[in-house]
Amino acid sequence: MTKQPLLSISDVIERIPAHRRTNSALALINRAYTIAEQAHAGKNRDSGEPFIQHPLAAAFLLADLGMDPDTIAAGLLHDVVEDTDVDLEKLDREFGSHVTYLVDGVTKLKEIEDQLQEEQQGRVAQKSVKSRSEQEAESLRKMFIAMSEDIRVVIIKLADRLHNMRTLSALSPERQREYAHETHDIFAPLANRLGIWQWKWELEDLSLRYIAPNAYTDIATAIEERLPERERGVQQHIDILRRRLKEEGIEADISGRPKHIYSIYHKMQRKGVPFQQIYDIRGIRVITNTEADCYRILGIVHSLWNPIPREFDDYIATPKDNGYQSLHTAVKGGDGKTLEVQIRTWEMHRTAEYGIASHWRYKEGGRQDQEFENKIAWIRSLVEWRKETDDANEFIDAMKTDFFRDRVYTFTPKGKLVDLPIGSTPIDFAYRIHTEIGNRCRGARVNGKMISLDYQLKSGDQVEILTTRHGRPSRDWLNPALGYIKTSRARNKIRQWFRRQDREQNIFQGREIVERELKRLGMEQIGHEAIARLFEYDRIEDFHAAVGFGDINSQQIASKIAEIRRQEEQETQLLEPPPPTPTIEGIQVQGTGGLLTRLARCCNPLPGNDIIGYVTRGRGVTIHRRDCPNILNLQDSERLIEVNWGTRPQTVPVAVRITAYDRHGLLSEISSIISDEGINIASLQQKTEQNIATLYLTLEIKDIAQLSRALTKIERRPNITEARRYTS
Ligand code: MN
Repeated sequence: MTKQPLLSISDVIERIPAHRRTNSALALINRAYTIAEQAHAGKNRDSGEPFIQHPLAAAFLLADLGMDPDTIAAGLLHDVVEDTDVDLEKLDREFGSHVTYLVDGVTKLKEIEDQLQEEQQGRVAQKSVKSRSEQEAESLRKMFIAMSEDIRVVIIKLADRLHNMRTLSALSPERQREYAHETHDIFAPLANRLGIWQWKWELEDLSLRYIAPNAYTDIATAIEERLPERERGVQQHIDILRRRLKEEGIEADISGRPKHIYSIYHKMQRKGVPFQQIYDIRGIRVITNTEADCYRILGIVHSLWNPIPREFDDYIATPKDNGYQSLHTAVKGGDGKTLEVQIRTWEMHRTAEYGIASHWRYKEGGRQDQEFENKIAWIRSLVEWRKETDDANEFIDAMKTDFFRDRVYTFTPKGKLVDLPIGSTPIDFAYRIHTEIGNRCRGARVNGKMISLDYQLKSGDQVEILTTRHGRPSRDWLNPALGYIKTSRARNKIRQWFRRQDREQNIFQGREIVERELKRLGMEQIGHEAIARLFEYDRIEDFHAAVGFGDINSQQIASKIAEIRRQEEQETQLLEPPPPTPTIEGIQVQGTGGLLTRLARCCNPLPGNDIIGYVTRGRGVTIHRRDCPNILNLQDSERLIEVNWGTRPQTVPVAVRITAYDRHGLLSEISSIISDEGINIASLQQKTEQNIATLYLTLEIKDIAQLSRALTKIERRPNITEARRYTS
C-alpha cells in the first residue's frame, strides 16, 4: 500500500464545511487535538508512524462524513483512555460530559472487542471453525449497537476500524486474517446498515485483501487494466441516453454504477463465473420523477439499444418482498457488450437505499427483528440527512440508542456471546446453552458474584451456571409471578421435563398446587371440578396432570377463580366486605380540594351526567346536573365551578394473614413486595410471640390474580411460613 502523507489537524478542519466552522467548534477540536497529541506523544504505531496519525485519520473520516464537533473531538480522543494516562475524569473536566460520554462508549466497545478476540483466538488454538455463523455475526452487530448507547459511538468505532484496516500490513499475517474476518463479519455490515456506503465498500475491499489475497490482487489488477476503457464505455452510453431524454423533455439523473472489488469477488463466487463475465457487465441507473416517466424511459432505452430477451423485470408492478421497486433491463450496447439499466423514481430510490435489505433478516427473525430493521433504516436515513441539515440537536437526540434495548448481550465464561430478550434470567441463559444445563441449574455467578436465579441479566454480563449432577427444574420456575424465566424456550423445556415425568406423580403434584392456591386465596369452597370445567377439562385427573406438568400455573388458576367470582358476584359475595357503592367521595372537585361536597336534591345527578358545582355559603359545594333548571336560572354564575365524576374506587379490601419467623427487615420487605404489585395497604397489625410474627393486613386489591401474585411472592421469601387470605 502506498504511504499516506502525514495528516495534520488543519486537514481535519478543512473537511468541515466552512459555515459549520464556528469558533466554539474549532476551539473544541483544537483542544481535543492538543490533549491527544500530548497523551500519545513519543509513541509510534506498528507501521512506524507517530501514533497521533491514527486518531487524526479517524477524526478526518468523521469530519468528512459530516459528523458534529463532539464526535470529531471524540474521534481525536478515542484511544487516550485505553492507551494513555488520561482518564475519564480529566476528559470530563476538559471537555464536559458530551465528549467524555462518546469516548467512554468507544472504550467500552473496545473491551467487548478484546473479549471477542480472545475467544476467537481460543477457537483458532482449538483449530475449530474460523468464521462465525451469520446468526452469531448478526448478534454481535446488534450488540455493538445496543451497547454503544449512542449510534455516534459506533460511527467512531467504524472510523477507527477503517483506519486500522488501511494500516494493517504492519501486523503478523495471522493477526491480519483474524482482524479482517472480524471486519468483514461485523464492521462492514454495520457500515452498510448505517448507510455509510463508502466505508462499507472500503472495509469489504480491505478485508478481502487479507482473507483472499490472491483473488484480491487478480481482480484489482484486472480492474486497473480495464478501467479507462470501461469508464469511457459507460460514459458514452450515459451521454447518448441523456441527450435523448432531454429531447423528449424527461427530467432524470443518470449515473454509472461502479463495482468494487469485493462485490465482483462475491458475485464470481456465487455464480461460479470468471472475472470478465462479471466485470464486463456495465450498469447505469436512471432516477426520475414519476412512475410514468420510468416506463417512458424504458421505451427509449429499448429503442436505442436491443433488449436482451428474458432480462427484463418489472419490480414496479410487482415489488420484491422487501418493498424494492425498479425496472430492470439489459440491452446490447453500442459496442456489443451488455449494459444493465435500472430505472426508478426518487421515492423508489430512497426505499432501495434505506429500506430493509432482505438478506439482513435471518430466518428466525420475527416481529422484533422487523422493528430493529425499521429503527436501523431510520437511523440510516438520519446519517444521510445529516449531510444536508445543520440542526445538530435534533440529530444528536436521534442518535441515542435507548430504543435498541430490547435484547441483552451476555457471555459464557469462555467468552461466547449469548443474545437474549431483555428481562432474561440465568435460567433462560442456562436453557439457551443446553437443555440439560437448564434442567440441572441450581445457581449462577454473574461477573464472579453469586446472584439469585431471578436476577435480570444486563448486556456485558459474564454468566456462569452452577449445576448439580442430579438436578431437576423447579415448578416455581413456571410461575410467571416469580419472574424466574422470560424466554418461551426455557418455559417449553421445563414443561417438557415435567410432562415426561410419571403421570401419577403429575396428578398428585397438580392436586397439591390447586389446593394450595385455593387455600391461599381463602376459597376452599370452590371445588376442583368447577375450576377444571373452566379450563375445559372433563376429567379432573387430566386437569391436575396439566397443572402438574406446568401447562396451567397458579396465576391462571387465580384468574379463573376471579372469573367465577365475577359470575357469582350477585348471589355469593366471595370477597367480604362488598365493594362500596359509589358515594359522593367519588367526585373530584377541581380547584377547591377539600371542600365538602354533596349531590343536589333538585336534579339528583348520576354518574355519567354532565355536572357542575355550586359553591354554597358555608355548606361546601353542591353538585347539580348542568341542565338543572336551578342552575340555568342562576344569577351569580361566579359561584359555579367545574367538577367531574372521579373514577369509582375499583379496589376491594381483603384481609390477609402472614406468619413468619421474626427477623430484621421482615416488615419492610413484605411491604415493598406489596407496593411493587401496586397494592395499597389499608391497615397492618403485627403480633409477635416466641419469635413467630403474625401480621394481619388489609390490602386494597384490584382482582384475585393480583392478590395471588403478591401472596406467592411473599411466601417465597425466607422465613415466611404462610401468606394467605384470612377469613376469621
Ligand atoms: Mn483506535
